[in-house]
Amino acid sequence: MKNIIYLLVAFSLNACNSQNNTINLKPKIQMNNQISKTEEEWKKALSPEQYNVLREKGTEMPYSGKYYLHKEKGIYVCAACGAELFKSDSKFDAGCGWPSFSNVMDSSKVVYTKDKSAGMIRTEITCAKCGGHLGHVFDDGPAPTGLRYCINSISIEFKK
Ligand code: FE
Repeated sequence: MKNIIYLLVAFSLNACNSQNNTINLKPKIQMNNQISKTEEEWKKALSPEQYNVLREKGTEMPYSGKYYLHKEKGIYVCAACGAELFKSDSKFDAGCGWPSFSNVMDSSKVVYTKDKSAGMIRTEITCAKCGGHLGHVFDDGPAPTGLRYCINSISIEFKK
C-alpha cells in the first residue's frame, strides 16, 4: 500500500513539472489584501484603453507606450491598484517595442500563468493584488536573471 502511495506522489509531482516547460512558473499566491472589484467597477475606474489591457488581456501597439523609452530613476507601480512592481534599475531596451524589465521587485507581487492564446505558449504576468494583466515574461533577458518581463506601458505608472 505504501509503495502505491509513493508511486502516486511521484506521478503527480512529475505531472506538475511537465506543465512548467516554458519558464519556471511559480505557484499562484493568495494574498489576503487582494482587491476585488466587479467588471463594472473596473470599467469606471480605468480608461477604455487601460480596461482593454488590464482586464481583457489586450496588448498595446509596440513602440506606442509612454514608458517604452522612459529612463528616469524610480519605480513602476500597477496602474490599476498601485502595487509596486518594477524598479527602473531593472529596465532595459529589448528592442521589442514594450518596456522590458529583467526582474520584478518582489516575486510575490506578480502571478505567473501559462498562456496558450495567439498560437503560442507564453507565461502571462498578472498583478497579484488586483489580477490586472501586465504582459508576459520570456527567458531571453539579460543576466543575472535571464528573464525579460515584457510589460504594457498602459498597465504601469512611473513614480519618482
Ligand atoms: Fe494591480
